[in-house]
Amino acid sequence: MTTPRMGIMAAMPQELQAVLDLMPDEHRETLAGRTFWPGHLAGQDVVAVVSGIGKVAAATTATLLIERFGVDCVLFTGVAGGLGPGVAVGDVVVATQLLQHDMDASPLFPRHEVPGYGRSRFDTDPHWRQRLTDAATAALAQIEHHLGAKAVADFGLAHAKVHNGTVISGDRFVATRAESDALRQQLPDALAVEMEGAAVAQVCHDFGVPFAAVRTISDRADDSAHVDFGRFVADVAARYSAQVVMTALQQPSTA
Ligand code: SAH
Repeated sequence: MTTPRMGIMAAMPQELQAVLDLMPDEHRETLAGRTFWPGHLAGQDVVAVVSGIGKVAAATTATLLIERFGVDCVLFTGVAGGLGPGVAVGDVVVATQLLQHDMDASPLFPRHEVPGYGRSRFDTDPHWRQRLTDAATAALAQIEHHLGAKAVADFGLAHAKVHNGTVISGDRFVATRAESDALRQQLPDALAVEMEGAAVAQVCHDFGVPFAAVRTISDRADDSAHVDFGRFVADVAARYSAQVVMTALQQPSTA
C-alpha cells in the first residue's frame, strides 16, 4: 500500500516556518518564484510550500503542487479574520466549504457563482476535514503546553474553540467593521475570511484532488485587525498550526 503524498500550503513564511521546523529531511526546489520543500512530516511524504498572499498566488502554487510534485491531497494552514458570532481570536476554523466573496459576474451569473462551474461553494474533503478537526481539538486541549502560559493569558486563549463551517476568500485584507458587517450580511453563514482558500479549493476540484483547510483566527476583520494581526501570527498562530497539521498526519490513516 502506498501512502499519499501530502501538499502543505501556507500563505506567509511565518505560517509555514513552524511546519518546516518539524520536518527532518526536507530539501529545497525553486519553481515559479516559489520554494517547495519535499520531505517528511510525522513519517508521511509531504511537500510544504509558501504560496504567497492572494487567490492567484495560491492557485498557481496549488497547480504546481499537483502537476509537478504529484501530491494526492492538499492541506492549507494559516490565519484568518473571524466573522461569525462567537468566532474569537485564538479559535480555530476548519472549513467545510469555501467561497470567493469577491466573485461577482452578476447579472450574467448569480452573485458569487464561479462562471462555468454552476456553483459558488467548493466542499472540503470529509476525511481530512475530520482529521484536522480532531487534531485542532487535541491541540487546544493542551494549548498552554504548546504556547506557554504567558501567550495564553496575553491573547485570552484559555477558552479557545474549534468551529466547522464556511470560510470565504477574496483579494482583500478585511480590516474595517463596515466591510466585515457587509460580508456578514451577504453571507450570514461565513465563519472566517481569508485570501487564498477558495482559490485552492477550486484548483483541487479541477484536478479531483482532496482538499482541507484549517485557519487560526488572528483578528476579527474589524478596525483593529491590523493591530492584532502581526503579534498574533508571530507569537501564536504559526506554532499552533504546525502542531495541528502534524497531529492530523499522525493519526492512523483510514484512507
Ligand atoms: N501584513 C501582512 C499581510 C497579511 S495579508 C504582510 O505584511 O505580509 C493577510 C493574510 O492573512 C492573508 O494570507 C489572509 O489569508 C489572512 N488573513 C488574516 N486575517 C485576514 C482578514 N481580516 N482579512 C483577509 N485575510 C486575512
